[in-house]
Amino acid sequence: MQQSPVVMTDSFSNLSLAEPLARAVAEMGYETMTPIQAQAIPVVLTGRDVMGAAQTGTGKTAAFSLPLLQRLLKHENSSTSPARHPVRALVLLPTRELADQVAQQVKLYAKYTNLRSAVVFGGMDMKPQTLELKRGVEVLVATPGRLLDHIEAKNAVLGQVEYVVLDEADRMLDIGFLPDLQRILSYLPKQRTTLLFSATFSPEIKRLANSYLKDPVTIEVARPNETASTVEQHFYSVTDDDKRRALKQIVRQRGITQAFVFVNSKLGCARLARSLEREGLKTTALHGDKSQDERLKALAAFKAGEVDLLVATDVAARGLDIKDVPAVFNFDVPFNAEDYVHRIGRTGRAGASGLAVTFVSGSDGRLVADLEKLLKKKVDLEAIEYEDDRPRGRINDGRRAWREAGELGDPRDALDAPRPREREREREARPSRPAAAPRDPFFDQPYQAPATEQPPAWEQGAKPAPSRVSANIKSKRKVPALFKAQ
Ligand code: AMP
Repeated sequence: MQQSPVVMTDSFSNLSLAEPLARAVAEMGYETMTPIQAQAIPVVLTGRDVMGAAQTGTGKTAAFSLPLLQRLLKHENSSTSPARHPVRALVLLPTRELADQVAQQVKLYAKYTNLRSAVVFGGMDMKPQTLELKRGVEVLVATPGRLLDHIEAKNAVLGQVEYVVLDEADRMLDIGFLPDLQRILSYLPKQRTTLLFSATFSPEIKRLANSYLKDPVTIEVARPNETASTVEQHFYSVTDDDKRRALKQIVRQRGITQAFVFVNSKLGCARLARSLEREGLKTTALHGDKSQDERLKALAAFKAGEVDLLVATDVAARGLDIKDVPAVFNFDVPFNAEDYVHRIGRTGRAGASGLAVTFVSGSDGRLVADLEKLLKKKVDLEAIEYEDDRPRGRINDGRRAWREAGELGDPRDALDAPRPREREREREARPSRPAAAPRDPFFDQPYQAPATEQPPAWEQGAKPAPSRVSANIKSKRKVPALFKAQ
Protein backbone atom coordinates (compact mmCIF):
# COMPACT_ATOMS: atom_id res chain seq x y z
CA MET A 1 0.00 0.00 0.00
CA GLN A 2 1.12 3.50 -0.73
CA GLN A 3 2.14 5.99 1.88
CA SER A 4 -0.68 7.56 3.87
CA PRO A 5 -1.57 11.14 2.92
CA VAL A 6 -1.03 12.38 6.43
CA VAL A 7 2.49 11.17 7.11
CA MET A 8 4.73 14.17 7.56
CA THR A 9 8.04 14.26 5.81
CA ASP A 10 10.51 17.11 5.27
CA SER A 11 10.67 20.30 7.20
CA PHE A 12 9.56 23.57 5.55
CA SER A 13 12.89 25.05 6.55
CA ASN A 14 14.63 22.89 3.89
CA LEU A 15 12.67 24.68 1.18
CA SER A 16 14.23 28.14 1.39
CA LEU A 17 10.84 29.78 1.02
CA ALA A 18 10.89 33.57 0.73
CA GLU A 19 10.76 35.19 4.15
CA PRO A 20 7.13 36.48 3.93
CA LEU A 21 5.91 33.02 2.98
CA ALA A 22 8.02 31.23 5.59
CA ARG A 23 6.65 33.62 8.20
CA ALA A 24 3.06 32.91 7.20
CA VAL A 25 3.65 29.15 7.20
CA ALA A 26 5.24 29.31 10.66
CA GLU A 27 2.30 31.37 11.89
CA MET A 28 -0.09 28.67 10.67
CA GLY A 29 1.82 26.19 12.78
CA TYR A 30 3.07 24.06 9.88
CA GLU A 31 6.44 22.49 10.60
CA THR A 32 6.78 19.49 8.34
CA MET A 33 5.50 19.09 4.83
CA THR A 34 2.83 16.56 3.94
CA PRO A 35 3.85 14.09 1.18
CA ILE A 36 2.07 16.03 -1.60
CA GLN A 37 3.85 19.19 -0.45
CA ALA A 38 7.25 17.50 -0.25
CA GLN A 39 6.79 16.16 -3.78
CA ALA A 40 4.98 19.00 -5.53
CA ILE A 41 6.55 22.16 -4.13
CA PRO A 42 10.07 21.60 -5.54
CA VAL A 43 8.61 20.67 -8.94
CA VAL A 44 6.27 23.69 -9.15
CA LEU A 45 9.19 25.92 -8.13
CA THR A 46 10.96 24.83 -11.34
CA GLY A 47 7.94 25.89 -13.41
CA ARG A 48 7.09 22.37 -14.64
CA ASP A 49 3.50 21.27 -15.19
CA VAL A 50 2.13 18.87 -12.57
CA MET A 51 -0.56 16.25 -12.62
CA GLY A 52 -1.26 15.42 -9.00
CA ALA A 53 -3.50 12.72 -7.56
CA ALA A 54 -4.42 14.01 -4.14
CA GLN A 55 -7.60 14.52 -2.22
CA THR A 56 -8.73 17.38 -0.04
CA GLY A 57 -7.13 16.97 3.35
CA THR A 58 -3.68 16.04 2.09
CA GLY A 59 -2.36 19.62 2.20
CA LYS A 60 -2.57 20.10 -1.56
CA THR A 61 -3.68 23.75 -1.35
CA ALA A 62 -0.35 24.72 0.20
CA ALA A 63 1.38 22.31 -2.20
CA PHE A 64 0.42 24.49 -5.16
CA SER A 65 -0.11 27.89 -3.48
CA LEU A 66 3.27 28.27 -1.78
CA PRO A 67 5.52 27.63 -4.81
CA LEU A 68 3.17 29.62 -7.01
CA LEU A 69 3.30 32.62 -4.66
CA GLN A 70 7.07 32.23 -4.37
CA ARG A 71 7.39 32.55 -8.15
CA LEU A 72 4.94 35.44 -8.34
CA LEU A 73 7.00 37.27 -5.71
CA LYS A 74 9.75 37.77 -8.30
CA HIS A 75 7.67 40.54 -9.85
CA GLU A 76 5.87 41.67 -6.73
CA ASN A 77 5.17 45.37 -6.48
CA SER A 78 3.57 47.65 -3.95
CA SER A 79 2.02 50.02 -6.50
CA THR A 80 -1.67 50.75 -6.00
CA SER A 81 -2.32 50.94 -9.74
CA PRO A 82 -4.63 48.13 -10.92
CA ALA A 83 -2.54 47.85 -14.09
CA ARG A 84 0.39 46.76 -11.93
CA HIS A 85 -1.65 43.89 -10.47
CA PRO A 86 -2.81 41.79 -13.45
CA VAL A 87 -4.15 38.28 -12.89
CA ARG A 88 -1.04 36.11 -12.95
CA ALA A 89 -2.36 32.95 -11.31
CA LEU A 90 -5.79 31.42 -11.76
CA VAL A 91 -7.15 28.66 -9.52
CA LEU A 92 -10.32 26.92 -10.70
CA LEU A 93 -12.53 24.84 -8.43
CA PRO A 94 -15.90 23.13 -8.81
CA THR A 95 -17.89 24.63 -5.92
CA ARG A 96 -18.17 27.94 -4.20
CA GLU A 97 -17.38 26.43 -0.79
CA LEU A 98 -14.14 24.96 -2.11
CA ALA A 99 -13.28 28.20 -3.88
CA ASP A 100 -13.90 30.12 -0.68
CA GLN A 101 -11.71 27.78 1.34
CA VAL A 102 -8.83 27.84 -1.09
CA ALA A 103 -9.06 31.63 -1.37
CA GLN A 104 -8.92 31.95 2.40
CA GLN A 105 -5.82 29.77 2.54
CA VAL A 106 -4.14 31.71 -0.27
CA LYS A 107 -4.83 34.96 1.60
CA LEU A 108 -3.18 33.54 4.71
CA TYR A 109 -0.09 32.36 2.84
CA ALA A 110 0.20 35.71 0.98
CA LYS A 111 -0.48 37.74 4.11
CA TYR A 112 3.02 39.26 4.34
CA THR A 113 3.45 39.89 0.61
CA ASN A 114 2.11 42.65 -1.65
CA LEU A 115 0.37 40.07 -3.82
CA ARG A 116 -3.39 40.47 -3.97
CA SER A 117 -5.93 37.71 -4.24
CA ALA A 118 -9.69 37.47 -4.75
CA VAL A 119 -12.37 34.86 -5.15
CA VAL A 120 -15.35 34.86 -7.51
CA PHE A 121 -18.15 32.30 -7.49
CA GLY A 122 -21.77 32.10 -8.52
CA GLY A 123 -24.87 32.78 -6.47
CA MET A 124 -23.48 36.04 -5.12
CA ASP A 125 -23.81 39.60 -6.33
CA MET A 126 -21.40 40.35 -9.20
CA LYS A 127 -20.77 43.95 -8.04
CA PRO A 128 -18.44 43.45 -5.05
CA GLN A 129 -16.52 40.84 -7.06
CA THR A 130 -16.27 43.27 -9.97
CA LEU A 131 -14.91 46.03 -7.72
CA GLU A 132 -12.24 43.70 -6.39
CA LEU A 133 -11.27 42.54 -9.87
CA LYS A 134 -11.03 46.14 -11.10
CA ARG A 135 -8.69 46.96 -8.22
CA GLY A 136 -6.30 44.36 -9.62
CA VAL A 137 -5.47 40.93 -8.23
CA GLU A 138 -2.55 38.63 -8.94
CA VAL A 139 -4.20 35.43 -7.72
CA LEU A 140 -7.77 34.79 -8.78
CA VAL A 141 -9.66 31.84 -7.30
CA ALA A 142 -12.88 31.05 -9.16
CA THR A 143 -15.59 28.63 -10.13
CA PRO A 144 -15.79 28.29 -13.93
CA GLY A 145 -19.33 29.58 -14.57
CA ARG A 146 -18.93 32.82 -12.68
CA LEU A 147 -15.45 33.40 -14.06
CA LEU A 148 -16.88 33.25 -17.59
CA ASP A 149 -19.50 35.84 -16.58
CA HIS A 150 -16.68 38.13 -15.45
CA ILE A 151 -14.66 37.47 -18.59
CA GLU A 152 -17.67 38.33 -20.75
CA ALA A 153 -18.27 41.51 -18.72
CA LYS A 154 -14.57 42.33 -19.26
CA ASN A 155 -14.01 42.44 -15.48
CA ALA A 156 -11.41 39.70 -15.66
CA VAL A 157 -8.60 39.82 -18.21
CA LEU A 158 -6.53 36.67 -18.38
CA GLY A 159 -3.91 37.57 -20.98
CA GLN A 160 -1.09 37.72 -18.42
CA VAL A 161 -1.78 34.48 -16.55
CA GLU A 162 1.42 32.56 -15.83
CA TYR A 163 -0.10 29.77 -13.71
CA VAL A 164 -3.39 27.94 -13.86
CA VAL A 165 -4.49 25.37 -11.30
CA LEU A 166 -7.33 22.98 -12.11
CA ASP A 167 -8.19 21.79 -8.63
CA GLU A 168 -10.61 18.90 -7.97
CA ALA A 169 -10.57 18.40 -11.72
CA ASP A 170 -12.54 15.15 -11.52
CA ARG A 171 -15.37 16.93 -9.73
CA MET A 172 -15.34 19.72 -12.30
CA LEU A 173 -15.78 17.18 -15.07
CA ASP A 174 -18.48 15.33 -13.07
CA ILE A 175 -20.46 18.55 -12.79
CA GLY A 176 -20.17 19.16 -16.51
CA PHE A 177 -17.70 22.05 -16.48
CA LEU A 178 -15.57 20.72 -19.36
CA PRO A 179 -16.90 23.17 -22.00
CA ASP A 180 -16.44 26.09 -19.58
CA LEU A 181 -12.91 24.95 -18.75
CA GLN A 182 -12.07 24.68 -22.44
CA ARG A 183 -13.31 28.21 -23.04
CA ILE A 184 -11.44 29.63 -20.06
CA LEU A 185 -8.21 27.87 -21.04
CA SER A 186 -8.52 29.30 -24.56
CA TYR A 187 -8.18 32.81 -23.10
CA LEU A 188 -4.87 32.01 -21.38
CA PRO A 189 -1.40 32.49 -22.85
CA LYS A 190 0.09 29.28 -24.27
CA GLN A 191 3.28 29.95 -22.34
CA ARG A 192 2.25 29.10 -18.79
CA THR A 193 2.47 26.49 -16.05
CA THR A 194 -0.57 24.25 -15.64
CA LEU A 195 -1.21 22.25 -12.49
CA LEU A 196 -3.99 19.69 -12.38
CA PHE A 197 -5.17 18.00 -9.19
CA SER A 198 -7.69 15.23 -9.11
CA ALA A 199 -8.70 12.45 -6.72
CA THR A 200 -8.50 9.98 -9.60
CA PHE A 201 -6.77 9.75 -12.96
CA SER A 202 -9.78 8.60 -14.95
CA PRO A 203 -9.55 8.39 -18.75
CA GLU A 204 -11.39 11.76 -18.96
CA ILE A 205 -8.85 13.38 -16.65
CA LYS A 206 -6.00 11.91 -18.69
CA ARG A 207 -7.57 13.31 -21.87
CA LEU A 208 -7.85 16.74 -20.24
CA ALA A 209 -4.21 16.54 -19.14
CA ASN A 210 -3.06 15.44 -22.62
CA SER A 211 -4.77 18.46 -24.15
CA TYR A 212 -3.63 21.13 -21.73
CA LEU A 213 -0.50 20.01 -19.84
CA LYS A 214 3.02 20.00 -21.27
CA ASP A 215 5.20 17.09 -20.24
CA PRO A 216 3.76 17.05 -16.70
CA VAL A 217 5.41 15.52 -13.67
CA THR A 218 2.97 13.00 -12.19
CA ILE A 219 2.65 12.97 -8.42
CA GLU A 220 0.49 10.47 -6.61
CA VAL A 221 0.20 10.40 -2.87
CA ALA A 222 -3.04 8.64 -2.02
CA ARG A 223 -5.37 6.46 -3.99
CA PRO A 224 -9.09 7.13 -3.58
CA ASN A 225 -9.59 3.75 -1.95
CA GLU A 226 -7.10 4.49 0.77
CA THR A 227 -8.13 5.78 4.12
CA ALA A 228 -5.75 7.60 6.45
CA SER A 229 -3.88 5.31 8.81
CA THR A 230 -4.59 7.66 11.70
CA VAL A 231 -8.33 7.01 11.50
CA GLU A 232 -9.68 4.33 13.82
CA GLN A 233 -12.58 2.75 11.97
CA HIS A 234 -15.47 0.87 13.53
CA PHE A 235 -18.54 -0.68 11.94
CA TYR A 236 -21.42 -1.40 14.29
CA SER A 237 -24.39 -3.59 13.62
CA VAL A 238 -27.37 -1.42 14.60
CA THR A 239 -31.07 -1.51 13.79
CA ASP A 240 -32.44 1.63 12.11
CA ASP A 241 -34.37 2.42 15.26
CA ASP A 242 -31.30 2.19 17.48
CA LYS A 243 -29.02 4.44 15.46
CA ARG A 244 -29.69 7.65 17.38
CA ARG A 245 -29.26 5.86 20.69
CA ALA A 246 -25.98 4.33 19.52
CA LEU A 247 -24.76 7.71 18.27
CA LYS A 248 -25.48 9.44 21.56
CA GLN A 249 -23.88 6.64 23.55
CA ILE A 250 -20.65 6.68 21.53
CA VAL A 251 -20.46 10.48 21.65
CA ARG A 252 -20.84 10.36 25.42
CA GLN A 253 -18.56 7.37 26.08
CA ARG A 254 -15.77 8.66 23.87
CA GLY A 255 -16.10 12.26 25.09
CA ILE A 256 -16.41 13.45 21.47
CA THR A 257 -16.56 17.22 21.27
CA GLN A 258 -17.32 17.66 17.57
CA ALA A 259 -18.37 15.33 14.81
CA PHE A 260 -19.72 15.11 11.30
CA VAL A 261 -22.77 12.88 10.99
CA PHE A 262 -23.48 11.72 7.43
CA VAL A 263 -26.90 10.64 6.25
CA ASN A 264 -28.05 9.63 2.79
CA SER A 265 -31.12 11.81 2.37
CA LYS A 266 -32.07 15.45 2.79
CA LEU A 267 -35.14 14.58 4.77
CA GLY A 268 -33.26 12.14 6.97
CA CYS A 269 -30.65 14.83 7.53
CA ALA A 270 -33.19 17.46 8.61
CA ARG A 271 -35.09 15.00 10.77
CA LEU A 272 -32.00 13.70 12.56
CA ALA A 273 -30.62 17.18 13.19
CA ARG A 274 -33.95 18.28 14.58
CA SER A 275 -34.29 15.36 16.92
CA LEU A 276 -30.69 15.56 18.20
CA GLU A 277 -31.20 19.27 18.78
CA ARG A 278 -34.33 18.51 20.80
CA GLU A 279 -32.33 16.09 22.87
CA GLY A 280 -30.00 18.89 23.84
CA LEU A 281 -27.09 18.26 21.46
CA LYS A 282 -25.90 21.37 19.67
CA THR A 283 -26.65 20.31 16.11
CA THR A 284 -26.99 21.86 12.69
CA ALA A 285 -27.93 20.41 9.32
CA LEU A 286 -26.24 20.91 5.96
CA HIS A 287 -28.24 19.70 2.99
CA GLY A 288 -29.33 20.70 -0.47
CA ASP A 289 -32.58 22.34 0.60
CA LYS A 290 -30.76 24.92 2.68
CA SER A 291 -30.10 28.28 1.10
CA GLN A 292 -26.52 29.27 0.41
CA ASP A 293 -26.68 31.72 3.27
CA GLU A 294 -27.94 29.06 5.69
CA ARG A 295 -25.18 26.69 4.62
CA LEU A 296 -22.46 29.25 5.13
CA LYS A 297 -23.91 30.11 8.55
CA ALA A 298 -24.09 26.42 9.54
CA LEU A 299 -20.51 25.96 8.47
CA ALA A 300 -19.27 29.05 10.28
CA ALA A 301 -21.06 28.00 13.49
CA PHE A 302 -19.45 24.56 13.31
CA LYS A 303 -16.02 25.99 12.60
CA ALA A 304 -16.40 28.42 15.50
CA GLY A 305 -17.25 25.52 17.81
CA GLU A 306 -20.77 26.82 18.48
CA VAL A 307 -22.16 23.57 17.11
CA ASP A 308 -21.08 20.06 18.15
CA LEU A 309 -22.70 17.89 15.52
CA LEU A 310 -22.92 18.79 11.85
CA VAL A 311 -25.43 16.49 10.19
CA ALA A 312 -24.83 16.49 6.45
CA THR A 313 -25.56 14.80 3.14
CA ASP A 314 -22.69 13.92 0.82
CA VAL A 315 -23.61 16.46 -1.82
CA ALA A 316 -23.80 19.34 0.66
CA ALA A 317 -20.59 18.41 2.46
CA ARG A 318 -18.44 17.63 -0.57
CA GLY A 319 -15.02 19.14 -0.38
CA LEU A 320 -15.55 21.19 2.75
CA ASP A 321 -12.36 21.75 4.63
CA ILE A 322 -13.12 21.49 8.30
CA LYS A 323 -9.99 20.27 9.91
CA ASP A 324 -9.43 18.34 13.09
CA VAL A 325 -12.93 16.95 13.43
CA PRO A 326 -12.40 14.29 16.09
CA ALA A 327 -15.03 11.93 14.69
CA VAL A 328 -17.14 11.11 11.67
CA PHE A 329 -20.34 9.07 11.95
CA ASN A 330 -21.84 7.33 8.98
CA PHE A 331 -25.37 7.28 10.28
CA ASP A 332 -26.20 5.59 6.98
CA VAL A 333 -23.75 3.50 4.95
CA PRO A 334 -23.07 5.66 1.87
CA PHE A 335 -24.66 4.64 -1.43
CA ASN A 336 -21.32 5.09 -3.17
CA ALA A 337 -18.40 3.30 -1.60
CA GLU A 338 -16.08 6.15 -2.62
CA ASP A 339 -18.13 8.54 -0.52
CA TYR A 340 -17.03 6.51 2.50
CA VAL A 341 -13.45 7.54 1.83
CA HIS A 342 -14.48 11.17 1.30
CA ARG A 343 -16.58 11.18 4.45
CA ILE A 344 -14.00 9.75 6.79
CA GLY A 345 -11.30 11.91 5.18
CA ARG A 346 -12.67 14.69 7.38
CA THR A 347 -11.16 13.17 10.48
CA GLY A 348 -7.55 12.22 11.12
CA ARG A 349 -6.34 14.97 8.79
CA ALA A 350 -2.82 16.32 8.58
CA GLY A 351 -1.52 13.95 11.22
CA ALA A 352 -4.28 14.20 13.84
CA SER A 353 -5.93 10.98 15.01
CA GLY A 354 -9.59 10.43 14.27
CA LEU A 355 -12.51 8.09 14.76
CA ALA A 356 -14.87 6.89 12.03
CA VAL A 357 -18.00 5.03 13.10
CA THR A 358 -20.37 3.43 10.62
CA PHE A 359 -23.80 2.11 11.51
CA VAL A 360 -24.75 -0.91 9.46
CA SER A 361 -28.36 -2.02 9.48
CA GLY A 362 -29.89 -5.21 8.17
CA SER A 363 -30.52 -3.91 4.65
CA ASP A 364 -27.01 -2.59 4.08
CA GLY A 365 -25.36 -5.86 3.06
CA ARG A 366 -24.84 -4.89 -0.56
CA LEU A 367 -23.46 -1.45 0.29
CA VAL A 368 -20.98 -2.95 2.73
CA ALA A 369 -19.95 -5.52 0.13
CA ASP A 370 -19.23 -2.61 -2.29
CA LEU A 371 -17.20 -0.94 0.42
CA GLU A 372 -15.14 -4.08 1.03
CA LYS A 373 -14.43 -4.28 -2.67
CA LEU A 374 -13.17 -0.71 -2.78
CA LEU A 375 -11.15 -0.90 0.42
CA LYS A 376 -9.90 -4.37 -0.45
CA LYS A 377 -10.51 -5.33 3.15
CA LYS A 378 -13.05 -7.38 4.99
CA VAL A 379 -15.42 -5.32 7.12
CA ASP A 380 -16.05 -6.96 10.47
CA LEU A 381 -19.09 -5.85 12.34
CA GLU A 382 -19.12 -5.15 16.03
CA ALA A 383 -22.12 -5.32 18.31
CA ILE A 384 -22.94 -2.41 20.57
CA GLU A 385 -23.52 -3.06 24.21
CA TYR A 386 -26.08 -0.50 25.21
CA GLU A 387 -25.78 1.06 28.61
CA ASP A 388 -29.53 0.73 28.98
CA ASP A 389 -29.91 -2.91 28.00
CA ARG A 390 -33.60 -3.43 27.41
CA PRO A 391 -34.46 -5.37 24.28
CA ARG A 392 -34.46 -3.23 21.15
CA GLY A 393 -35.69 -3.86 17.67
CA ARG A 394 -37.83 -2.58 14.89
CA ILE A 395 -40.68 -0.34 15.82
CA ASN A 396 -43.56 -2.62 15.03
CA ASP A 397 -46.59 -1.23 16.72
CA GLY A 398 -47.94 2.19 17.44
CA ARG A 399 -47.61 2.10 21.20
CA ARG A 400 -44.07 0.82 21.13
CA ALA A 401 -43.11 3.33 18.46
CA TRP A 402 -44.48 6.11 20.59
CA ARG A 403 -42.72 4.86 23.72
CA GLU A 404 -39.34 4.24 22.12
CA ALA A 405 -39.27 7.43 20.14
CA GLY A 406 -40.26 9.23 23.31
CA GLU A 407 -37.11 7.88 24.93
CA LEU A 408 -34.93 8.71 21.98
CA GLY A 409 -36.44 11.99 20.95
CA ASP A 410 -39.68 13.46 19.78
CA PRO A 411 -42.47 10.87 19.42
CA ARG A 412 -43.52 12.53 16.18
CA ASP A 413 -40.28 11.40 14.63
CA ALA A 414 -41.26 7.78 15.03
CA LEU A 415 -44.70 8.35 13.64
CA ASP A 416 -43.43 10.04 10.53
CA ALA A 417 -40.49 7.67 10.11
CA PRO A 418 -40.16 7.09 6.37
CA ARG A 419 -41.28 3.82 4.86
CA PRO A 420 -38.79 2.32 2.41
CA ARG A 421 -40.56 3.71 -0.66
CA GLU A 422 -40.66 7.17 0.85
CA ARG A 423 -36.99 6.87 1.64
CA GLU A 424 -36.36 6.21 -2.00
CA ARG A 425 -38.14 9.43 -2.94
CA GLU A 426 -36.40 11.63 -0.43
CA ARG A 427 -32.87 10.60 -1.36
CA GLU A 428 -30.76 13.54 -2.27
CA ALA A 429 -27.51 11.90 -3.12
CA ARG A 430 -28.53 10.89 -6.59
CA PRO A 431 -30.60 13.65 -8.09
CA SER A 432 -31.61 13.13 -11.69
CA ARG A 433 -31.36 16.18 -13.86
CA PRO A 434 -34.69 17.77 -14.69
CA ALA A 435 -35.39 18.62 -18.36
CA ALA A 436 -34.76 22.33 -17.86
CA ALA A 437 -32.45 22.29 -14.89
CA PRO A 438 -32.41 25.42 -12.77
CA ARG A 439 -29.03 26.71 -11.75
CA ASP A 440 -28.00 24.72 -8.72
CA PRO A 441 -27.37 27.25 -5.98
CA PHE A 442 -24.61 25.06 -4.55
CA PHE A 443 -22.59 24.86 -7.72
CA ASP A 444 -22.85 27.72 -10.16
CA GLN A 445 -24.01 25.43 -12.94
CA PRO A 446 -27.00 23.22 -13.45
CA TYR A 447 -26.39 20.03 -11.54
CA GLN A 448 -25.71 17.08 -13.77
CA ALA A 449 -25.54 13.81 -11.96
CA PRO A 450 -22.48 11.87 -13.09
CA ALA A 451 -23.11 8.38 -14.34
CA THR A 452 -21.40 6.91 -11.28
CA GLU A 453 -23.91 8.61 -9.00
CA GLN A 454 -26.91 6.70 -10.33
CA PRO A 455 -28.43 4.32 -7.79
CA PRO A 456 -27.54 0.70 -8.40
CA ALA A 457 -30.29 -1.35 -10.05
CA TRP A 458 -31.01 -3.33 -6.92
CA GLU A 459 -31.96 -0.13 -5.10
CA GLN A 460 -34.72 0.42 -7.63
CA GLY A 461 -36.58 -2.71 -6.75
CA ALA A 462 -34.34 -5.69 -7.40
CA LYS A 463 -33.38 -7.70 -4.34
CA PRO A 464 -29.91 -7.05 -2.94
CA ALA A 465 -27.46 -9.84 -3.54
CA PRO A 466 -26.96 -12.00 -0.46
CA SER A 467 -23.72 -11.19 1.24
CA ARG A 468 -21.48 -12.55 3.89
CA VAL A 469 -21.83 -9.23 5.69
CA SER A 470 -25.57 -9.39 6.02
CA ALA A 471 -25.11 -12.86 7.53
CA ASN A 472 -22.86 -11.25 10.11
CA ILE A 473 -25.49 -8.66 10.83
CA LYS A 474 -28.10 -11.28 11.50
CA SER A 475 -25.90 -13.27 13.83
CA LYS A 476 -24.92 -10.07 15.68
CA ARG A 477 -21.86 -11.84 16.89
CA LYS A 478 -19.24 -9.78 18.53
CA VAL A 479 -16.17 -9.63 16.36
CA PRO A 480 -12.79 -8.04 16.90
CA ALA A 481 -12.35 -4.36 16.14
CA LEU A 482 -12.02 -3.61 12.50
CA PHE A 483 -8.85 -2.73 10.67
CA LYS A 484 -7.59 -0.14 13.11
CA ALA A 485 -4.46 1.94 12.51
CA GLN A 486 -2.31 0.15 9.99
P1 AMP B 1 -5.96 20.82 2.04
O1 AMP B 1 -5.71 19.42 1.62
O2 AMP B 1 -5.16 21.79 1.28
O3 AMP B 1 -7.43 21.13 2.05
O4 AMP B 1 -5.44 20.97 3.55
C1 AMP B 1 -6.04 20.33 4.63
C2 AMP B 1 -5.74 21.03 5.93
O5 AMP B 1 -4.42 20.71 6.37
C3 AMP B 1 -5.83 22.55 5.86
O6 AMP B 1 -6.64 23.00 6.90
C4 AMP B 1 -4.42 23.06 6.04
O7 AMP B 1 -4.39 24.26 6.79
C5 AMP B 1 -3.75 21.91 6.79
N1 AMP B 1 -2.33 21.75 6.40
C6 AMP B 1 -1.82 21.82 5.16
N2 AMP B 1 -0.50 21.59 5.16
C7 AMP B 1 -0.15 21.37 6.44
C8 AMP B 1 1.10 21.08 7.09
N3 AMP B 1 2.23 20.95 6.42
N4 AMP B 1 1.07 20.92 8.43
C9 AMP B 1 -0.10 21.03 9.12
N5 AMP B 1 -1.30 21.30 8.56
C10 AMP B 1 -1.33 21.46 7.25
